[in-house]
Amino acid sequence: MSSLELTQLQSNLRVKLGRVLIVEDEELIRETISLSLAEEGFEILLAEDGLTALEMFVGPVGNPQNQNPDIDLVILDLMLPGMNGLDLCRLLRYQGIDTPILIVSAKGTEIDRVVGLEVGADDYLTKPFGMRELIARCRALLRRHRGSSQPDANPVLKFKDITLHPKECRVFLGKKEISFSPKEFRILELFMSQPRRVWSRDQIIDQVWGHDFMGDNKTVDVHIRWIREKLENDPSNPEYLKTVRGFGYRLG
Ligand code: CA
Repeated sequence: MSSLELTQLQSNLRVKLGRVLIVEDEELIRETISLSLAEEGFEILLAEDGLTALEMFVGPVGNPQNQNPDIDLVILDLMLPGMNGLDLCRLLRYQGIDTPILIVSAKGTEIDRVVGLEVGADDYLTKPFGMRELIARCRALLRRHRGSSQPDANPVLKFKDITLHPKECRVFLGKKEISFSPKEFRILELFMSQPRRVWSRDQIIDQVWGHDFMGDNKTVDVHIRWIREKLENDPSNPEYLKTVRGFGYRLG
């Protein structure tokens, strides 16, 4: 292989891996993340504060023509000078920008995590974290986002009284809208994409959390219970999400 071919191959690889915007005010962390991701072949953009990052998406504030749609993933610190990470996240979603956002923050309480996900972030990682974990999360987010943004890959899903709108992230039971956490939503979406298919706990983890999931597969049971509490008349005798003993779960 000539060096030209090699360069071309590398740049194709880079295009596939994606362009990552790192929003982080601490130089050392910014540089560490950026070096690790660049080594993996990601293309890197940097912002030291929220406003700079926002302008990379929507152009100078008040001049929304200059959108930059070429960012595939945002790694977002919460504690930033000026506009904080949560506000930035909320603003991006408000603008209709659905680029995956991974929050990295030293604030690791459950409250922060929940608030982060509620304002539209896709995942959350608590500092200090290992670079391998970060890279694995980035890859998983990109994989999921690309899988879900293929043209016409997101038809409205229906099963009995449940209607799920993948792009709007909304679920209705009859006419009543039910609110779901991102993980609950993705689990339900998985079931509704193939009704009556049995999914094992490991398959659900693989599809919803990604290969790098570090927790216990009882997590799945907990989420299934929460989903049942929202959808079922009698959660202990479910009509929708049924347990298939020894195998996993099935819709219908
Ligand atoms: Ca910070």
